[in-house]
Parts: sequence; structure tokens; C-alpha cells
Amino acid sequence: MDILKERILREASILTSDVLKLDGVLNHQVDPELTMLMGQEFARRFSGENITKVITVESSGIPIAFATALTLNVPLLFARRKKTLIAEPDALSERVPSFTKGIVTDIMVSRQYLGDGDRVLFIDDIIANGDAARGLLKIIERSGASLVGLGIAVEKAFQAGGRTIREQGIRVESLVRIASLEGGAISFL
Ligand code: 5GP
Repeated sequence: MDILKERILREASILTSDVLKLDGVLNHQVDPELTMLMGQEFARRFSGENITKVITVESSGIPIAFATALTLNVPLLFARRKKTLIAEPDALSERVPSFTKGIVTDIMVSRQYLGDGDRVLFIDDIIANGDAARGLLKIIERSGASLVGLGIAVEKAFQAGGRTIREQGIRVESLVRIASLEGGAISFL
């Protein structure tokens, strides 16, 4: 998606050779017009799949997932990062390591909102090693819902997440694929 590539080149900065700071575009500030274009692109790529729900993980996935859900005219469900010790008997949860925060968090989805009647499209902002995505994929599988595929705004293709999930036979569509951040330059695939 050329417009997203242009915005990344203009507004992102390279923190280390494997971390891109995308606060102006994805992780802190949100451009509603660009976000709607991303959502429409995902809806176009996954059209005809009879999607009943879009799912993401809070928080940075929510705007793009919302734009996708709005275009598809289906609900958006976001996995919550558990911050409470109150037991939730009706929840599916997984423990996932956080790539940028260096901590583990528990993500959870209530069984009330995801079940075997659903065909879900999973949308996320960035994929690196794929730990966050794999956590939500496990939750989707345990819920009995069918997974249509995974839509990622920015895939860091030099890390294994996207590739290993494709190798599981899951359709992964990325709007932008980054080949490398080496030498202080962003190169796209
Ligand atoms: P993974 O679980 O695939 O290793 O990492 C996925 C999550 O970590 C993304 O949802 C994103 O929030 C964060 N993340 C991973 N790599 C980057 C990066 O280069 N830049 C930013 N801003 N976030 C990242």
C-alpha cells in the first residue's frame, strides 16, 4: 500500500535495527483518513469471505480493526490485556510476551462474544516475532470460531512472525512489508 509506505518513510524513525517507531502513524497518534483507507483495503482483500466479526488486540490494533469492521459492517471485538485479578470464568485467555515492552501480559476474550458461529478476520498493527498474534490465534481456535485470515498493517518481514504463521496454512495479508532496518534505512520488500 503505497500511501502507507510514504507515510512510514516520512514519519517513522528507526529505534534499533529491529524496532521502528511508528507513533505518528499507528501507535500513539491516529490519522483517521489513512486508517479508513487501511480498513477499506483489508475489507477489499478479504471480500467474499462472509466475515461475521473483526478481532484485534488492544490497543494499537483497534483503530485499523475498527475501520475494517465499519467497512465490512460487522462488529469489532478486541482482546483485552488483563489487568485484574478478578476471575473471569467466561473468558478465554493466553499469556503473551510483549516484543516492545519486554514483559508478559495476559490477553483475554469473553466466550460470550466469540463462538463456533463466527468467521473472524484478525487485524493487527505490526507483526514482529508473531507472539501476540499466536496468542490470539490460540484463543480463536479454542473458541470454535473459524479464522478467515490475518491482516497486518506493517509486517517486519526480517522477523519470523508472518512467515511462521503462513507456514501454518493461515492467510496473512500485510499492507506493507519491511525487508530491513539495517544501516539506518527502511527498505521495503
Ligand atoms: P510480536 O508479538 O509479533 O513479536 O510483536 C507484536 C507487537 O509488538 C505489535 O503489536 C506491536 O505493538 C509491537 N511491536 C513489534 N515490533 C514493533 C516495532 O518495530 N515498532 C513498534 N512500534 N511496535 C512493535
